[in-house]
Parts: sequence; C-alpha cells; structure tokens
Amino acid sequence: MIFDSHTHLNLAAFDKDLEQIIQKNKQENVFVINIGTCLETSKKAVAIAKQYENCWATVGLHPSHTGPMKVDKNELNTINFNSEFKNPEVFDGNFEILLQEPKVVAIGECGLDYSYLKDFSKKDQEKYQEAQKKEFKKQIQIAKKYQLPLSLHVRNLYEQALSILEAEEYKGQGVFHFFTGNLSQAKMIIDKGFLIGLSGVITYSSEMDRVIEAILLKKILIETDAPYVAPIPYRGQRNEPIYVREVAKKIAQIKKLSQEEVERVTFQNTVELFKLQLQ
Ligand SMILES: [Zn+2]
Repeated sequence: MIFDSHTHLNLAAFDKDLEQIIQKNKQENVFVINIGTCLETSKKAVAIAKQYENCWATVGLHPSHTGPMKVDKNELNTINFNSEFKNPEVFDGNFEILLQEPKVVAIGECGLDYSYLKDFSKKDQEKYQEAQKKEFKKQIQIAKKYQLPLSLHVRNLYEQALSILEAEEYKGQGVFHFFTGNLSQAKMIIDKGFLIGLSGVITYSSEMDRVIEAILLKKILIETDAPYVAPIPYRGQRNEPIYVREVAKKIAQIKKLSQEEVERVTFQNTVELFKLQLQ
C-alpha cells in the first residue's frame, strides 16, 4: 500500500480516463488525496471522494487563484475561459458548504506563492500579495473552526507562512506540500509541528538529498502533485498517482532503507495526519 498524499485527479487533465486511473490505483493499492485548488476543483475532489473508496478530498483556494491567473488548460477553469486570464476567487461560504462531506480531510491547498505575480506591475504585485495573505488567513481560521489539518502550498516563503500561522494562533497540524527548501527551513517547519511533503522533484534534483537524509521518515509524506512534474523516468509525461513509488524509491536510496519501509511509514503518516478512516 502506498499513499499519494497530494494529487489532482480532479483536474481536467484526467477527464478522459479518470475511471481507468482510479481502477488501476485500486488494483495497485495506491491511495490518493485529491487536492482542491479553487471552488470548482474542490467540488470535483469531493465528488470523486464520494464515489471511490480509495480517494479522499481537500477543499481550498490555491494562492495562484487569489489573483488573476493565466488560464491553465489542465485545470477546470471554465469561468472566463474565453479570456487569457481567470478571475480571482475568494474563499467564501461556497467552500465551507463542502466541508460537510466526511471524506474532506483538510483545508487547502492554501498558502503563499508570489512566483505567479512576477509579470504584474509593482503596485499590482503588492495588491495580489495582500490578497494571498488574506485568503490564507481565512483558510487557517476555517481549519481551526472545523479542526482540520492544512495542506500548505508555500514557495520559498517558509518563514513568512510560519509567522502567519503563528499570528493566526494555528495550533493544528498540516503538511508543507512540494517542499523544496533547505535543511534549516525543514527543521523550522518540523519544529512547529508540521510535516514535509516530498514530490517527484527529488528524483531529478539532488538539492534535497541532505534534507531527506537528515529528517525523520516519521515527518515525511510522499506525493506526485499529478498531473504536474512527473518523476524520473516519466519526466515530460502526464504525472499520475502510481508514480509516487518513484518518490518512495528515491527516499529509500538516500536514507538506506527498503522501499517497503518508506511506503509503509509514509502511508501511516498520511493516515494519522488526515485522520483517515480506512475500510
Ligand atoms: Zn497541488
């Protein structure tokens, strides 16, 4: 059994073969959490979780969706599709309604990522940075209210994200998904009680080796972030949950453990963080 703790079968990239992918996951004992990125993809994640037993869902607003966003054909951005940009969204009551479904196991992905703003004017950058912070804070408060963990999308801004979590008096748990920071940032995150999510990036960049070596397996979740960033040897193809094995394999090599051990412990870590009810 293996857990892809952060994936997006809820995106349009899987519209054509969703059923087959999920059946294959089932046969191969691959469990997944489909992560919401906007209202529409959160709804889809919830719908998939209701239908299939090896799928769970999160509900959230990705920082990129808090500002005008270039339309990504992989996503379910039907709103404003005839324009190059999709309108900004806010995390409102429509998201909160979705939390009634028992297989919604976290809020997110939410957080900070200013890399989406680099083409804007300085004034707009400031405006949309503020929007990211505002929506992040709102989602932290919702996680507190419903006692759900957070699936965090933070690029580079680890210190800033942790200080927002502290200012919002967040005492719950969560995972910094797609972690690509350094060892001191990893330690800081773990010290605050959060887990580190490792993706296929670790299969082709050795920059993370030292971090992986140093942190406890108990603090690690593995993920694909499919359909994006497929691991070696699938680079350039559409990523899918089953490739999460490559992430486990790489961690096993670095930590000199068996792949089975990495799969087993990260599976357990995922079940514990998201308090999953396995049948
Ligand atoms: Zn993601």
